[in-house]
Amino acid sequence: MLTRTEGIVLKTQKYGEADLIVTYLTSDMGIISAFAKSPRKTKSRFGSSLEPLTHGKISLWGKEQSLPKITQSDIVSSFHQLRESYTDFVNISKLIEIVISLTPAGIPHERLFPFFLNLLHILQSSEHAAKDALHLITVIRLLAVIGYAPRLKGCGKCGNESLAFYPDSGTTLCTKCASSPDRRGKPFMRISNKAIHFYAHSMEWPIHISNRLKPSPQTLSELSGLLDRHLTFILSKKLRSSGFPGASNPMPVRS
Ligand SMILES: [Zn+2]
Repeated sequence: MLTRTEGIVLKTQKYGEADLIVTYLTSDMGIISAFAKSPRKTKSRFGSSLEPLTHGKISLWGKEQSLPKITQSDIVSSFHQLRESYTDFVNISKLIEIVISLTPAGIPHERLFPFFLNLLHILQSSEHAAKDALHLITVIRLLAVIGYAPRLKGCGKCGNESLAFYPDSGTTLCTKCASSPDRRGKPFMRISNKAIHFYAHSMEWPIHISNRLKPSPQTLSELSGLLDRHLTFILSKKLRSSGFPGASNPMPVRS
């Protein structure tokens, strides 16, 4: 069976001597894996169309469940600038890890593909100075699209004001709700009103104008710490990409 679709390459894995297994986020089948015969032998157009982040039109032969073969792959956008920028690539690796970990494979997700593609275009066209905030916003928005965004707007149980975030609940909780007998001693972290406001804006504003948000470095580090704790809890492990050290390390292109 021949299937034509559009996909973004999320990651590739070597298979045997010269073959690859490519994981795509597709426009109509969700996340799928497919098999590419010998793309690594030469520097072919076919091979470059399988680089991570590439948006392409692809033809697949075979059933989705049994690793279909990629018979054709044409580049729509290569996004090579994003691949070549260390900070962009580290941030996008984190987004990819979130998508792969929290989205079931093979289940169509109507909003995810257009959202992710738009994100890549925005990241590619944005000025470098504004990118710290933008990178954080992309993580927040992605979590919202796939239904895992933490709640920071008042107590998650009663709605009262709260500045204490509980990673085990994914929400802020007021003193009263947090001190119920079954919750005693659960770890939490304090957050500032500034961080809560920035979080609310990054959810609500269209991403392409979010460079008008000017959070302080402190607000950024506070929220990124909170998101890391939140993700560590929901993934039951630390994200590999959040542990990347400084920019002098070689870029992890293929895993
Ligand atoms: Zn409460």
